[in-house]
Formats: sequence, C-alpha cells, structure tokens
Amino acid sequence: MPTIDKHMQKSIERTGKDYRDIHEWIDDPEKKAERHDIGRVLEFARMFEESYGEEGAREYLQHLQDDVKGRFGHLLEDMENMIADNLKYFGCS
Ligand SMILES: [Zn+2]
Repeated sequence: MPTIDKHMQKSIERTGKDYRDIHEWIDDPEKKAERHDIGRVLEFARMFEESYGEEGAREYLQHLQDDVKGRFGHLLEDMENMIADNLKYFGCS
C-alpha cells in the first residue's frame, strides 16, 4: 500500500491540498482494517463529507482506490517476473 506521504502527494496533485488528516485517519495502524472496510464506505464517506465537504469524501474514496491499485501493481509485477522466468526456462526469451 502507498505510504501516507504518497497518498498526500496524490491528493495535492488532485486538489491542491494534502488532506493529511484523512489519510492518517484511514491508515491508523490500530484501526486500519475497519477503516479500509468496503462495507463501511458509505458511512465514512458521509462522515468526511460533513467535516471536509464533497472533496474530502472524494479523497477518502481515492485513498481506498489508490491502495487497491498499489496492491494490484505488485501482483502485476510478480506475474510479469513469473512469466519471464518461465519463458526463460522454456528457452523462449
Ligand atoms: Zn490505506
């Protein structure tokens, strides 16, 4: 998963603000699992909308999306390496 710094950097690119409070809240090491729980997205998005407006709610959702993208990025990399190794094994590279 991207670090809080990376999340803030992306927020700045998108909105001009880092939304540090939101990213730190989501990635709180003690409560990370419940705060990334897809089943509570609506509840948390509403909460952020109340305190930070629509843009804050959007940055919360973006955080979750960027986490997933980060995870699949790793998967993709592993897959590419695995395929490259196999092709080498079969003498195809
Ligand atoms: Zn996260």
